[in-house]
Amino acid sequence: MKYSHKLFQCGNRFNDMFCPRCGKADQVQETYCRQCGLYLPDFSKPIKRESPPEEHLKANTVLSVMTIIASFTLSFFLFLVLGFRSFTHPLIYVTAGILLAMGGWHIQTLIRTLMLKQQWKRRAPLNEIQSAPTGKLLDQANFTDAIPASVTEHTTRHLAKTTPTD
Ligand SMILES: [Zn+2]
Repeated sequence: MKYSHKLFQCGNRFNDMFCPRCGKADQVQETYCRQCGLYLPDFSKPIKRESPPEEHLKANTVLSVMTIIASFTLSFFLFLVLGFRSFTHPLIYVTAGILLAMGGWHIQTLIRTLMLKQQWKRRAPLNEIQSAPTGKLLDQANFTDAIPASVTEHTTRHLAKTTPTD
């Protein structure tokens, strides 16, 4: 059983909504369908604008670099100032170790972000110039055998044939 999208988009807040996938009635917006588990968003609410992926990548890069610098500086400081002394508490080594691990983890996050960035850069020009090939296609097209698509032209020819010319 299929229900039209209109039922879903009229913005009613009552439980007379149907699941667009399985058609189960009596649904509540912003919950999951009780029959098939499909998420049912509230269409009466404005859709939140997603920030472009470039911004995400930039923010991730900055965050990773800052975390790497901070964690390595701190662990280095801990080892240098407090480590390898007779009074050194084991917790200092643990903390420094955790900081090093955090820095290491963020190095791989940074590498992955940079790789994603490159991928995005390679993809971006393709996204922008999708209408460009039209000019090329026009050059390649063969118009010699083409039948004019103009309705006016066709009608004029048709009329010219049938209309008596006296
Ligand atoms: Zn459902």
